This record gives sequence, C-alpha cells and structure tokens, in this order.
Amino acid sequence: MTDAVTDNTNGAQMYPLVVLGEMVIMPNMTVPLQIGQGKSFKAIEVAWEAQQTVLLIFVPEEEIEGYKSGTPPALPSVGVVARLEEFIKLPDGTARIILEGQQRAQIDTMLQVDPYYQVVAHTISDAVIMNMDVEALMETVKQQVDEFVDHLGEVPQEAVAFVRRIDTPGHLADIVTYAPAFDFKERLAVLNELDPLNRLHIVYRMLARHLELMKIRQKIQMDTKDILDQSQKEYFLREQIRVIRRELGEDEELDDPVDDLKKKIQAMVAPDYVRDQAMHEYRRLSQQGPGSPEAGVIRTYIDWLMTLPWNLEELNAIQMDEAQKVLDEDHYGLDKVKERILEYIAVRKLVGTNMRSPILCLVGPPGVGKTSLGRSIARALGRTFVRMSLGGVRDEAEIRGHRRTYIGAMPGRVIQGMKTAKSRSAVFVLDEIDKVGQDFRGDPTSALLEVLDPEQNGTFSDHYLEIPFDLSQVVFVATANQLDTIPAPLRDRMEIIEMSGYTEEEKLGIAIRFLVPKQREAHGLSERTLTISDAAILQVIRAYTRESGVRSLEREIASICRKVARQVASLEHEAPLTHVDTNDVETYLGVERFSYDKAEEQDEVGVATGAAWTSVGGETLSIEVLTINGKGALQLTGKLGDVMKESAQAAVSYARSRAESLGVSTSFFDDHVVHIHVPEGAVPKDGPSAGITMTTALISAMTGRKVRRDVAMTGEVTLRGKVLPIGGLKEKTLAAHRAGIKTFILPQANTKDIADIPQRIRDEIQLIPVSSMDEVLTIALR
Ligand code: ADP
Repeated sequence: MTDAVTDNTNGAQMYPLVVLGEMVIMPNMTVPLQIGQGKSFKAIEVAWEAQQTVLLIFVPEEEIEGYKSGTPPALPSVGVVARLEEFIKLPDGTARIILEGQQRAQIDTMLQVDPYYQVVAHTISDAVIMNMDVEALMETVKQQVDEFVDHLGEVPQEAVAFVRRIDTPGHLADIVTYAPAFDFKERLAVLNELDPLNRLHIVYRMLARHLELMKIRQKIQMDTKDILDQSQKEYFLREQIRVIRRELGEDEELDDPVDDLKKKIQAMVAPDYVRDQAMHEYRRLSQQGPGSPEAGVIRTYIDWLMTLPWNLEELNAIQMDEAQKVLDEDHYGLDKVKERILEYIAVRKLVGTNMRSPILCLVGPPGVGKTSLGRSIARALGRTFVRMSLGGVRDEAEIRGHRRTYIGAMPGRVIQGMKTAKSRSAVFVLDEIDKVGQDFRGDPTSALLEVLDPEQNGTFSDHYLEIPFDLSQVVFVATANQLDTIPAPLRDRMEIIEMSGYTEEEKLGIAIRFLVPKQREAHGLSERTLTISDAAILQVIRAYTRESGVRSLEREIASICRKVARQVASLEHEAPLTHVDTNDVETYLGVERFSYDKAEEQDEVGVATGAAWTSVGGETLSIEVLTINGKGALQLTGKLGDVMKESAQAAVSYARSRAESLGVSTSFFDDHVVHIHVPEGAVPKDGPSAGITMTTALISAMTGRKVRRDVAMTGEVTLRGKVLPIGGLKEKTLAAHRAGIKTFILPQANTKDIADIPQRIRDEIQLIPVSSMDEVLTIALR
C-alpha cells in the first residue's frame, strides 16, 4: 500500500481523511455509522485494507458539499485519529463501519485530493500533571453530571458510574460532551481545545449553563402544569356534567350547586308524590360527602325524576279531516287500514282522554309500512312519536329496569322512551312484539302486559324509578310479522289490524308517489336531475326484489339515487337530467337478482303449481311427483316440515283409495315408489295448504294426464278428498298473479276472503272456490 506511508518526522503521519457532517466523535468513543459512496468511503476502504488508522474531521452540514465535490474549504485544525473496527459493505453500495476515536491530532497539510483526501497530521497528547486544583475541578464537574442526571432521570446507572471512574481531565471533558444537551458547535469547541485543563473549564461552564437552563425550563413546566392540572380538572368535570346533562336531555348550562337543586326540585312540575320522592333523595344527597360515589347515583336518579314528563300537556282537539289528510299524505293505498285507524282516532276523539286507549297492533310482512303508519298516527293525533324494538328482548329488566342497588342501573326501555318522547301522551310504537322471547332472566311478557293493560298501566312501576308512572294516556301501537307467535295474553289485549303485502301495481304506485321523491330528496336530487321511468321501477320490483313490502325496493331506489348523486356531484357545470329507463337499471344495480316466478312453460305430467305463504309474503311453488317401478314406498324431498309431510301421506292415501275410479290398478302403490319433491329446497316449507297441489301432481303422475300450466291452487285435503280452508289467500293470489297464473283454485270456505283481493287482480285471474278434490282434478287436469 503506497497510499498510507508513515512519516515519522515530528510524529507527523499521513492519514486517509474521513469527513463527517454535523457530528463529533471524541477520543475514547466507539461509534457505529453508516457511510455512503464518496471520497470518505474510498479512504475507509483503503485504510481497512492497509489496517491503518484514519483521520476524522467534523464539519458543519453546509461544508459537506465542498468536500464531496473535491473543492474543500479551509481544513479545520483539529481532527481525531480513529481506528476502524468494522467495515461491512452493504448491497445498496453503502457500508456499515465502527469507528473508535483514539487521539486528537492537529492537521498540518492536505496531501492529496483524489481519489480520496489524504492529510498529514500529528497527534496531541492529553497528559496533564495532576494537582489539587485539577482534582477539585474534576470533582465539581462530576457533581454537575450527577445533578444533570438527577434532572433527566433516564440515564443508565452504568453511564453514571463510568463517568465517576474517569481520572483524567481531558477524557472527562470529552465524555461529558456526549450529554444530549450539548450541540455540535459546543462539542466542536471542546474538541478544538487542545489543553485538557482549559477544556475541562470550558465544559464546566457549559454544563453550568445547561443546568441552569434545565432548572428554569423545569420550573416553567411545573408552573404551567399546575395551571393546566387545575383547569384541566375543572374542564373535565364540567365536560362530564355537560355530557350527562345531554344524555338526560337537559340542555341548560348550569352549574347546579346542591342548593340550586333543591330550588329546582321544589319548582318541578310533577305530582306531589314525585316531588316528595325527589326531596327525600335530595336529603340523602346532602348528607353525602362531595366525592362519594353514592352522590353520583343519587344525582342521576333525581335527574331522572326531574326529566320525565309527569304531567299531561294540553292536546289540540283532533280534526278528523286533518287526520285523514295526514294518513293519505304519508301512505299510498292501504284504504282499509287507514279506515280502521281513523275509526280508532274518532273513538278517541269522542271519548276524550278519559278513555283507556285500546292498543292497536299492526300485523303484516316486513316493509308494508307498519312503523311508518305509527309515525303517521302520531302526526294525525298531533303527538310525539317514539318507538322501541322488542326484537330479542328476553329480560324483564329491559322493559322494567334494574333496581337502583345494581351498579349502573337504569330505567327500563319504556321509561327511557317516555323521556325521549318528553310527553306523557306520546304515540309509542312497540316494534316486533311477536319477537319477544323469554329465558331464565324472566319473562318480559308480564312486564309488557302491565305496560299495555289499561287497567294497570296508570300505575306502571319501573324497578329503577320505584314510584309509579302513569302510562294510561300513551297511545301504544304494536307491530308484528306474525300473529301466532305473540303470547296469547298480549294478543288478547290488542286490536289487531292485519296488513298484507302489496301487489306489483301498489308497489309501483308507492314508488312513484313516495319512495322516489323521498329518496331523490334525501340524495340532494330533484326532478330536474333524475327521473326513473315506470317501466324501470317495475323492472326493479321484479328482478331486484322479492318481498311483500317495499323495503328492498326503497333500498334499490336509494342505490340508484346514490349513484346518480355521485355523478352529479363530480360535475363542474350544472347537471343534465339523468333518465333511468329499463335498459339502464342493470348499469346502476348490477345483474338481475331474481328471475321472477314464472308459470311452467307447458302442461306437464306430475307437476302442479301451488301457493305458499310465509311471514314475508306469498310465493308460488311447483310440486313434482315421480312414480318409479319398485317396491311400494313414499319419498319426500325439498325440506318439508312435519305438517307438509303428513299432508303428503294423506295425498297418497287419498289417491290410493281413488285408484280404481281413476283407472289405475289397485296394486299401483305396491309396485311403485312415489317420490314427491318441492323444488327450491333452501326455503323451509310447511303447512297443510299444499295438500290439493300434491294430490293433483300425484294423480297426474299416476294417470299420465297433464296438469294445466296456467292453474295454481291452494287448499288442505282430507283423506276423503274434502278441501279445507287455508290462510293468507290474498298473499297467495298476489304471488300467483305475479307468476302469470290465469286460474286459481281455492277452498270454498275461503270465499269470504276474496273481497280482500284487489279488484285489479280479481279481474285478471279467475278464482274458483272448490269443496272437493274431484272438482280440483276436473279443473286442473287435461
Ligand atoms: P314495517 O314497519 O312494516 O316493516 P316500514 O314502516 O319500515 O315497514 O316501511 C318501510 C318503508 O316503506 C318506509 O320508508 C315506508 O314509508 C315505506 N312504505 C311502506 N308502505 C308504504 C305506503 N303504502 N305508502 C308509502 N310508503 C310506504
């Protein structure tokens, strides 16, 4: 290696130069670094290979460029000779090195610029003759360090012990500069001082200054913290009060010292027993210490007493024509239901508030407007509206609350609802009353009974409130999907209004008059920016929804509106009109979701169309029967419920008994396997009303006679072939009509229900009441 030749004259030596920016490595320090390509990199590479030391110089950031480009500014006079402990080239071209600073060196001249800098420098000894003065100074500095560490609090003990052990002033001065308080300039100043004693003096002064600064800073911090602590505490407390107030529905911004509370209790508009109870609690509260947790509980309780609507407000007299107008404004069609509601309102008007209100219960599939009718009733009566969902309520305490001895006790939902309503005469909708469950936590039904029973609800007792609340003027309206799961005692107390699903035409009407305008407005659109053709709506009804109500329909319309709104919002200029027609529906809503019910393509043997009724509406279903040679047996597939299975057996027994008159061998059932299948197996089906359909399909299969494809039917069959009545006629007829059926066979005993079927449907579908299986076969089989 010719680059690193030793020049022993004057102790001067040649060193490859390493330039470091904005940092100082003092002698006796070992520092790992990452270093990028450049002259210093080259210098290190050379030194590493030659096992030679390098000279480090430390320059401010702004000088680095000059060194890199080969036009260095004036060299600093002092550097540090360092040994390379490690040199590892990394894949990205940089290298990781570990440098150990050894000794100060004074730089004499620059020898070479390319390919790396080389300088001549001579090392400087730190030797000092120790005396008392020096030792005293060293001790002082060490004490400063201790004090410093005390303030910082995060310095490892080993570091402190290490400083304690240093026994030369130069070394001590160098090490102290590593304290984080020192900056580059200060460190450089310490480095440049070659006389160790002077150096320690410099460090002493610097440390003293840092310590003073630190103390001042800490004092400022403590002061502001005190201020903050105090005001923060206050702030949090006030904030909490505010949140609680808001939760309680109180808006006023007050600061309620206990005395104020007393005045408020005395001024409270409520029956005497309520005020007495509040005063009683108030006395308990004033005996509590300020911080007591019990005080909070009592306060919350008093707040409840103060916010509940104990008194009855004046109600405007009900105008019947106004009421009618409101109902018509909010809902399309539903004439019968509206009529029932108007009757109910009329009776209320006549009897006045003395009447114990009967409870209305709207029963029908989801999305037919039960809840929104409740809202309309409130509007028609000029009362506030609250609703609570009973779905999944299994615990009596949810209705009636928890006793105050429970931690976090609250009133039950009824009382909570009253608070929200802020009125003792609100219209209170109890949604999904058919979904109330019961388990080990008690039966909510009995609590509900007390809520709904006009005899008892004048003094409804909530566990939390402890004192009775008068619910007698609340107008309760319950909603349910099904009647049969409503506990009987509850059902007995309600006036049931049944609502059925909508026909396609009704849905279309609702969409045009209500849903589209409503959603358009909700999405910031207007008739000028969005229109949807009737045909497109019909398309949405048929291919994107399968429901009795209009909930999904409303959702799909909302979805169209949302997409149009997005387009409109991204325009700079005024939006043009978007017209959605049948062709566009798919663009907005994606591929069609349902191939809507269609009647069979052609007349077939062994396939008959029935109609089913579930809690979500009517549907048509085709029942298939196959008879296969084999040992007599009955096979049933398609997820049938027990009742449906029994009715299949009844169908077989009936067919068997009629075999001869149908021209089929009496041994047919001994040497044939009869397989009855109800397709679309994912939907569980049950009920006896598929009886005549199964029998028809079976007899068609036995005799080879075809079933007319445009006939659908519903009815229970007895072993003797009598046709018995069924439920849900309207829904089933609607489903059959949707599927394009022309003739619909129904039990004679259901004739009375025909009046419920909309006239338009009756005009388009022939309804034939029958009383025996023979009649069914005559109509349905070719
Ligand atoms: P339910 O309580 O029966 O499940 P909702 O009251 O939630 O049904 O009704 C769903 C949506 O359909 C609501 O936006 C409601 O306003 C609307 N809707 C239902 N029936 C009608 C109708 N006859 N006229 C206008 N809007 C209706």
